[in-house]
Amino acid sequence: MAPRSSPLKGQIEPERQCSLDIHGQTVCYGLYRSRRRTIGLSVDHRGLRVGAPLGAALRDIESLLREHGQWVLDKLAHWQAQRAAATLVDGSRFPWLGQPLQLLLPDGLTRSRWGAAELQLAVPAGKAIEPVLRRVLQQRARSLFLARLEIHAARLGVPTPPLFLSSARTRWGSCNSKGEIRLSWRLGHFPLALIDYVVIHELAHLKEMNHGPRFWAIVERLYPDWRWARAELQRQASGLPPL
Ligand SMILES: [Zn+2]
Repeated sequence: MAPRSSPLKGQIEPERQCSLDIHGQTVCYGLYRSRRRTIGLSVDHRGLRVGAPLGAALRDIESLLREHGQWVLDKLAHWQAQRAAATLVDGSRFPWLGQPLQLLLPDGLTRSRWGAAELQLAVPAGKAIEPVLRRVLQQRARSLFLARLEIHAARLGVPTPPLFLSSARTRWGSCNSKGEIRLSWRLGHFPLALIDYVVIHELAHLKEMNHGPRFWAIVERLYPDWRWARAELQRQASGLPPL
């Protein structure tokens, strides 16, 4: 659920910088008050902004922010990503399969090329780097994920399920009742061991559509170190490059 964002007009007092904790993350926002009747949240180039009626109590503002906590975190992650992605240059580095990958932008390259530790990206003249890079990474992730799905589906004794990609930053994978698996292409930043854990986790849902003991027994059979992987995934998520 997403709160409606309202136009930022009628501001009658200077904006105040505030912060609060949502799901363990410190969220900073600009609070301004005006003759409006409701509290409104929006994210613009300055980040998160909260417009509030003159007399609104801070605790009401904070509880609204907490209520829409996931929306706020997702919007801010997207905002940070856009900001940082704008700084991609020739020679920039980001992790891929847990190793540093260097981005090279040679002039006149017509096809992107993967090296062992570098990616030569073919960016058509006049185009922005980021969308081209994301597409190339998504293609790379897709073929990698398909290969891993095939390997682990065979171990589990099920046919390789259809794969879809998402761009999620915290929900790495999901499996629906049609037996389709969705994986975030951003997993490609992580070491293969963590990708395999997510692949196996979602495959196990083909047999058990829950997180009960039978589900974890299947995961454990295919991936004995799942507890480590689950914790490591959470730890590494905060260092995800802002692409
Ligand atoms: Zn699950």
